[in-house]
Amino acid sequence: MTIKKDYYEILGVGRDSSSAEIKKAYRSLALQYHPDRVAPEKKKESGEKFKEISEAYAVLSDTNKRNQYNQFGHAGIDGRYSSEDIFRSADFSSVFGDVDLGGIFGDFFGMGGTKKQRRYSRGVDLEYVLPITLEEAEQGCEKKINIYHTVTCSVCKGSGAEANSRRKKCPQCAGKGQVGYNRGFFSFLQTCDRCGGKGEIIENPCHRCKGRGKIKESSSISFKVPPGVDKGISIRIKGKGEAGELGGVSGDLYVIIDLKSHPLFAREGDDLYTQVFVSFPVVALGGEIEVPTLDGSKVKMKIPPATIGGKVFRLREKGMPSLRHRGRGNEYVKIIIKVPDKLTSRQRELLNEYARISSDNISESKENLFGKWFKKDK
Ligand SMILES: [Zn+2]
Ligand SMILES: [Zn+2]
Repeated sequence: MTIKKDYYEILGVGRDSSSAEIKKAYRSLALQYHPDRVAPEKKKESGEKFKEISEAYAVLSDTNKRNQYNQFGHAGIDGRYSSEDIFRSADFSSVFGDVDLGGIFGDFFGMGGTKKQRRYSRGVDLEYVLPITLEEAEQGCEKKINIYHTVTCSVCKGSGAEANSRRKKCPQCAGKGQVGYNRGFFSFLQTCDRCGGKGEIIENPCHRCKGRGKIKESSSISFKVPPGVDKGISIRIKGKGEAGELGGVSGDLYVIIDLKSHPLFAREGDDLYTQVFVSFPVVALGGEIEVPTLDGSKVKMKIPPATIGGKVFRLREKGMPSLRHRGRGNEYVKIIIKVPDKLTSRQRELLNEYARISSDNISESKENLFGKWFKKDK
């Protein structure tokens, strides 16, 4: 038997705090500990914490229960209310407003209030990973994909029942959809296995969906990919996830962008990185070279005399369009000095001559090239 913590302490509020302060404290803790919002390995722990704070809130937000608790402590509550009674009158919906916390209260505490929602529950969201080219990401594109998902049955409109057939109350759970059992302080509810939690059974199941109210099928979905998308960006397509229960609203489809690798360009944020080979006379004497850009055109770039290998030049606004604001990133061009692999005898002669009259064949680089260049350099 563990000693129960003080409700005010659990919520981190003073004994004289107002109901608004209690609500505020509970809300921020609840959003922090909701099991759907934490890493999988922390689910159990935060589920327990969530129950603890919710119980504290249920008591302290109810004037009668709070008075009772102030006077008699936990004994004043535990001796008087069942765990279901503690939660029953608490007003959780006004705490969270538009934040959807899922069926957690129904699941944990067996409150009656969420039953209807659970019956017509929303379908599950789906994810689809879509690889696109860097050019498609730059231009934006239209895509069509096929997904295999459940859709609401068009014959029974999701009810699962044949036309003119009735649904009747499930005899096992008496229409509640759940059967209860107790564990310690809390009573838990388990989904009824006879009706699958629906609370009803169908006399004459729909011939098309066999009473499931939904069927699996392949759908073709078209959508736009906006210019500037990057790997990991997700595009939400409303209502294209799995069908809901009993005709409930469908979940959403999230298309997650993946970028195919490009032979010439690497990308980091809105910037593009490339490298070009430049002959030794050009870097030594200076000149003009042509540099590839993502749209396939070449732009001219000036190379100043005495440019060292590894030097990076910036082409303003030749990068990717920004998804969030106007404008584009830059293109960064790294100079690689091209060493000829074959020389004619005349070229060899000239290079020998050059070497002969140059005294500084080897010198140390004074310029720090490391850490300047793109970190994903391949
Ligand atoms: Zn059907
Ligand atoms: Zn049942």
